[in-house]
Amino acid sequence: MSPFHHTLAQLASLATIRGDVVEAKLWSSALDLARAHHIESELDAGPLFQDPPPGINPAILEHLRRAYEAGGWVLVESGVADLPADLRWLFESGAVTLDQLATVHRELGVTSAADIVAAVREQKLRALHGLDETVERAVAASLSNLRARIPRIPLGRAVSLAVKMLAALRATPGVAWAAPLGSLRRGQDQVGDIELIAATDQPSAAIDALLTLPSSSHVLHRSERRLYVMTNLQQIGVRLTHPANAGADLLHLTGSRAHFEALQAHAASKGFSLRADGLRTADGTLVPAATESDIYGALGLPLIPPEIRGGDDEIERAIRGELPALVSLGDIRGDLHMHSEWSDGRDSIGAMVEACCALGYEYMAITDHSPSSAASRNLTIDGVKRQADEIARLRERYPEIVILHGCEADILPDGRLDFPDEVLRRFDIVLASLHDRSGHTPDQLMERYVAAMKHPLVTLIAHPTNRLVPTREGYDLDYDRLFEMAVETGTVLEIDGAPSHLDLDGALARRAVAAGATVSIDSDCHRSDLLGRQMNLGILTARRGWVEPRHVLNTRPFLDVHALIAAKRASH
Ligand SMILES: [Zn+2]
Ligand SMILES: [Zn+2]
Repeated sequence: MSPFHHTLAQLASLATIRGDVVEAKLWSSALDLARAHHIESELDAGPLFQDPPPGINPAILEHLRRAYEAGGWVLVESGVADLPADLRWLFESGAVTLDQLATVHRELGVTSAADIVAAVREQKLRALHGLDETVERAVAASLSNLRARIPRIPLGRAVSLAVKMLAALRATPGVAWAAPLGSLRRGQDQVGDIELIAATDQPSAAIDALLTLPSSSHVLHRSERRLYVMTNLQQIGVRLTHPANAGADLLHLTGSRAHFEALQAHAASKGFSLRADGLRTADGTLVPAATESDIYGALGLPLIPPEIRGGDDEIERAIRGELPALVSLGDIRGDLHMHSEWSDGRDSIGAMVEACCALGYEYMAITDHSPSSAASRNLTIDGVKRQADEIARLRERYPEIVILHGCEADILPDGRLDFPDEVLRRFDIVLASLHDRSGHTPDQLMERYVAAMKHPLVTLIAHPTNRLVPTREGYDLDYDRLFEMAVETGTVLEIDGAPSHLDLDGALARRAVAAGATVSIDSDCHRSDLLGRQMNLGILTARRGWVEPRHVLNTRPFLDVHALIAAKRASH
């Protein structure tokens, strides 16, 4: 085949993968036309356009002209760039040709990494026309680099992109339920991709609903039960699955891979076999699974929450009946960390109070930054008194919520706090945080934390690792010591829900509560309209840390919160 013919065949394959049957047909007809007229390269095609033979379908001629004018390879490159990311990766790895990729896609419905892994594991590639064991081995060999070149997406951004699509799916008639998949559903702080699933018998209605969203103008792939769109420079994939076995898809595609493999081993020990497409008994009968609980239940397990499906010890704990009762949004009674226009927040205290009331909170704390914080605006000592007056007026206007006047005080390089004690004493609650390393070693940073925790006026350490997702790692501290000191001094540690913090993260939060520390889950919000969303991210992160309501300060009634603050203040 000449390079030009090959290019036309590739364009047909790319259209097939996009799910565009009409385009695929037009490109293969363009290839037939080129062959019939002995057009071996773009350059040969010119005369055909000047004097088109009668009876040629103008649409086919138009496609050939596009390849002639733009250069066929340019069209191929932009088509490859528009493939769903994992398919693009597979093609670029060199393991398959575009024709083979189109076959794999068409015959097995493969569009994502999870599909590729399952197809390789079940040796389905070698059986396809135009593929063999060598190709399957090449794909298997490249799996270890899977996603290495695809940047991960911060959780906050992924959630904000997914919510609109999830809402549209849930509002579509015939959709029983819709959920995120993969690391997004597990609440990982950075996610590999945004994939959603919905259970429905009417997939075309759901696809039509998604295509009317203004954000889904750029379609990468569309087939009966799949849609991939590009929105805000980010790919979002949607699967529409049969409700009768949707639980099996949800379970497999939620992962993690380690959890699923451990569950497969557990299934085998019970005489079942668990695969991507569902659970089967020893004689091969599929156990119908409309929900995930149908599968866990058949295996003698309770539903394991997605956030703790990390492949750690969750299955053993489930077998022993020792799964944690994870904290959820409904347990939260208040938010103890947020900013107003008195420091770097966008909104007035009044707007923040109103939003907290709308969320149904019993209490809240306004905690603006102290003078030497690097924030764009800070609370001054003089401002503290005026802010207190404003809060006093708001307390009269909003008797339904307890408004705490707090601050987020920087821990200075020598371990002192950024307000003198006589000022700190005027606040109802004091949060202490490190925003600036000041060139210190981990041991020196720890000494600053210890000094702050020993301070009787400090109730809470905010975002303890001070990482920035996705650009800055947290401090490399002796966290066991930090947790021990928190317990010893009666200081609360924060799980900060701001998308750039998510700090403590799940793994550290699990260690903190295991050590006996009390945590609080806060929004650290700078805008009234995001208070709810950031609290949600904090909850997801806490759940990844096996955190239960009993570990969390702000699941408690206000009198208990007040008692904890007062007890530490009185203890020195
Ligand atoms: Zn902070
Ligand atoms: Zn803050």
